[in-house]
Amino acid sequence: MTQRVALVTGGSRGIGAAIAAKLAEDGFDIAVTYASNAAAAAQVVATIEALGRRAVAIQADGATTHGNIAAITQTVAALGRLDTLVCNAGIYPYGPIGEMTVEQIDRTLHLNVRAVMVETMEAVKHMGAGGRLIYIGSAFGERAPFPGISLYSATKAALGGFARGVARDLGGRGITVNVVEPGPIDTDLNPAHGDGAATIRSFTATDSYGKVSDIADMVSFLASPRAGYITGTCLAVDGGLTA
Ligand code: NDP
Repeated sequence: MTQRVALVTGGSRGIGAAIAAKLAEDGFDIAVTYASNAAAAAQVVATIEALGRRAVAIQADGATTHGNIAAITQTVAALGRLDTLVCNAGIYPYGPIGEMTVEQIDRTLHLNVRAVMVETMEAVKHMGAGGRLIYIGSAFGERAPFPGISLYSATKAALGGFARGVARDLGGRGITVNVVEPGPIDTDLNPAHGDGAATIRSFTATDSYGKVSDIADMVSFLASPRAGYITGTCLAVDGGLTA
């Protein structure tokens, strides 16, 4: 079988690092992008290389147009092809809408939404049949259970609409596109014992935080040939937060 290649944006820490390691276990060579944490990205590369796969870390700010395009072109230049794109990099602005700044709104839209569009636009130029586009949305894209998350919720909700349209564009080429919508997952962005964690946890049916591996396992399945008939949909991995 031809060696497959996956790119995971924001793959230096948290959910993205777990996805990168899982896809490497599945046999992919891996590119990860990171914003500033070169040491964490280097650690992910070392983990993947220890599994016998090729890996490259790319510094690319997903909030800029050039960052998005460079992530794709550098992956293909370094690893020769692109089969799976996981758009994972994201930020979580928190606060009442009246207290947000225009800069916060722009930066969040650029990274959480626009980057996904630009990366998809560029990636599909390199993908063939069996290609996979997987976006990390959020349960808060389906439900806003408490105040202060309007901007974040809006950006994550946008991914479902984009994926439905892209699925129609690419279905005939054998490329699927789906959104994985995590509930609370224990990472630097949302520590299971941080401020407000008990409140967030109370909105789940399981009364628990999830693990990064819960999301990586779903992405692993979607990236596999077994998921070829799943496209244009949002899949909750949220401990029942949206139940
Ligand atoms: P973390 O904050 O733990 O990790 C964020 C990752 O994204 C890091 O690798 C970081 O790089 C990278 N990143 C941040 N800003 C940029 C940027 N401008 N350009 C490129 N990369 C960037 O986040 P999580 O792992 O928790 O979240 C990952 C995704 O999952 C996000 O889209 C988030 O919205 C979503 N999500 C998370 C949930 C949770 O409870 N944790 C719940 C639902 C959705 P660096 O290391 O260089 O800083």
